[in-house]
Amino acid sequence: MYKDEILNRYNTIKNNVDIIKQKYNINYDINIIAVSKYSSLETIKEFLSLNIDLPLAESKAQSLRDRAGELASFKDNIKWHFIGRIQSNKVKYIVKYSDLIQSVDSIDIAEVINKEAVKNNKIQDILLQFNISDEEQKGGFDIDSYIKIYESVSNMNNLSIKGLMAIGKDTDDISIIENEFEKLNSIYKDINAKYNNPLSILSMGMSSDYELAIKHGSNMIRIGSSFLGYS
Ligand SMILES: *Cc1c(COP(=O)(O)O)cnc(C)c1O
Repeated sequence: MYKDEILNRYNTIKNNVDIIKQKYNINYDINIIAVSKYSSLETIKEFLSLNIDLPLAESKAQSLRDRAGELASFKDNIKWHFIGRIQSNKVKYIVKYSDLIQSVDSIDIAEVINKEAVKNNKIQDILLQFNISDEEQKGGFDIDSYIKIYESVSNMNNLSIKGLMAIGKDTDDISIIENEFEKLNSIYKDINAKYNNPLSILSMGMSSDYELAIKHGSNMIRIGSSFLGYS
């Protein structure tokens, strides 16, 4: 994809976000993450040369490793987020390259990431991913045990929990999606109320549902197909 098309898409998303903020009377920033998992390296380079300065996100450890490695010489200070299922044998790449791991979804994986972070002498920023839909394959912690989960992961010294992440159900029924997003929003607020405001990121919303997510408290949207697209 060419630069001007990418810029157009970015401006469209940014305008939409401004309109949504006005509509719901929101006065905090909504961070946009440029999900690059469907995009070619050429498209990512076109995007980077626009100097828009948004984090990129990948969902496969090898792609993160290859792309972060390759693009480091193209541009300084690219921020990478990891948003995919985490296999423990790939954690070393994920910790090496991720500024934020959004998809921590089990205590076992959190422990492996913590160990790798110790090895790398790094405090790894993470989000806890919760399963807010009834779709098993989406991954995520069980929402009912959020206090126990939050407390266990908080005790891991080289992890810093910055917030929560979830993927809305893939359905045309808007009320289902809104209920799911509101559920994660209430957990986010409850953890902040109980533990003196440790969380600042509520990552919900993708190309098809970011308005609903922002309506229900999201301050980080992860946009792939309608931004850097499929080519
Ligand atoms: C792929 C992906 C996205 C982006 O999805 P689009 O619908 O293409 O915007 C966002 N979040 C996660 C976790 C993803 O895997």
